[in-house]
Amino acid sequence: MESTERKIRTFKRGLRLPMHKTVTEGKAVETAPAPKQVVIPVNQHFGAPNQALVKVGDYVKRGQKIADAAKTGTMTVPVHASVAGVVKKIEMHLQSNNTLGLCVFIEADPEKADSDTDFMLSLDPQTISKEDCLTRIREAGIVGMGGAGFPSYVKLSPPVEKLGKIDTIIADGAECEPYLTTDEAVMTEKPHRLVQGIAISMRITGVKRAIIGIEDNKKRLIPMLEREIRLAGLEDAVTVELCRTYYPQGGEKMLITALTGREVPSGGLPMDAGCIVQNVGSLVAIAEAFYLGKPLIDRDLTVSGDACCTPKNIRAPIGTILTDLPEIFMKIDHHSLRKVLFGGPMMGVSTATLDIPIQKNTSGIVLMTDAETVFDVEGPCIHCSRCIRNCPCRLSPALMNIALESGDLDDAVRAGLMDCIECGSCTYVCPSRIKLVQRFRVGKQRLRQRLK
Ligand code: SF4
Ligand code: SF4
Repeated sequence: MESTERKIRTFKRGLRLPMHKTVTEGKAVETAPAPKQVVIPVNQHFGAPNQALVKVGDYVKRGQKIADAAKTGTMTVPVHASVAGVVKKIEMHLQSNNTLGLCVFIEADPEKADSDTDFMLSLDPQTISKEDCLTRIREAGIVGMGGAGFPSYVKLSPPVEKLGKIDTIIADGAECEPYLTTDEAVMTEKPHRLVQGIAISMRITGVKRAIIGIEDNKKRLIPMLEREIRLAGLEDAVTVELCRTYYPQGGEKMLITALTGREVPSGGLPMDAGCIVQNVGSLVAIAEAFYLGKPLIDRDLTVSGDACCTPKNIRAPIGTILTDLPEIFMKIDHHSLRKVLFGGPMMGVSTATLDIPIQKNTSGIVLMTDAETVFDVEGPCIHCSRCIRNCPCRLSPALMNIALESGDLDDAVRAGLMDCIECGSCTYVCPSRIKLVQRFRVGKQRLRQRLK
């Protein structure tokens, strides 16, 4: 079938947003030179905390493990040095989620910051045991690169009773957030690594089918992705499917519904709908961990927004502080800058400073001007139900908000708080400019603290 005639899949209750992608889409990824210093958060994953394995004064190589959990549980991944150099400090620093976290400060060696490496030996994922494959993915420190930093090896090792019911691996290349074109750049430049990452995931799980899901604003990628699938001999197992450019199409639940027609049950996970969803960047990182022995020490990201004079896709070492990027890489119009976002405008986190390191899950940095930013004062709820009609998870944001305002966490949970994917659609459509999703994020944090 010609790509132009393909069925376009989608889900209900999405939003059509202004995408602001044209300034960076199709642009090649430019590799940033090693900065003079990196500030690497010790904890960049969703799970038990790590401890630093180095001390002040140590010389570390690029790729050397510098932090790991004291006891390797099922929800931890290590962190590695992204440049070769000397550990100058180990102390608290502001992170991209606006919290303070322990960070290792490494002063880059001016002569060999990039070249003095300590990578793992390459491994053939098709001949070693599945357990060894999972160990390699953990040791490479790979997490979901489009979201909360969920360890990738955990996604690939579901409980035995669930594994038999999983029949589809989904490579999430939808990239529905405005401004961001990182995943598109990754798929354009490393399609062979993406297909390798899919093949590795299929080998580990025994799943026989995989789908690369992209939005229809990226359909130019279909021929190159299908070529790589054919070259890998996987044309009977792996397909590329088009989804409507519709927000939040890249959310796991929405993508599963669009591509398979299944629904993730309330309180459930993708595996409950027979699927494993991995971001395309994570799949590329998995392939590189085997074939290059490379841990997750740098990442591609988009820098954009009208206050960014040099919008582009870049590759930067993890731990690079925004202000340490040379001007050629990120020139900022400080006069017009009003808002700094780590991530996109819908799900990203607004930060008060540029003195924050790029992390494993930093898919983009958007520098916004007044014209791009809505700073309206919140009004009262007028019970218009727009938030309810536009919630892709069919929740009642207005009710959740009332419950949280009155301090009743249990009521908020009954109204669906823990099923909220924090997509921000309710905030976007609310005529009273109520900061709904921001409240839901805080409410979920409070609930997690209470459960601890
Ligand atoms: S969209 Fe805003 S004003 Fe309308 S019901 Fe929801 S919270 Fe209230
Ligand atoms: S942020 Fe949560 S409540 Fe609001 S629309 Fe998205 S899923 Fe629904």
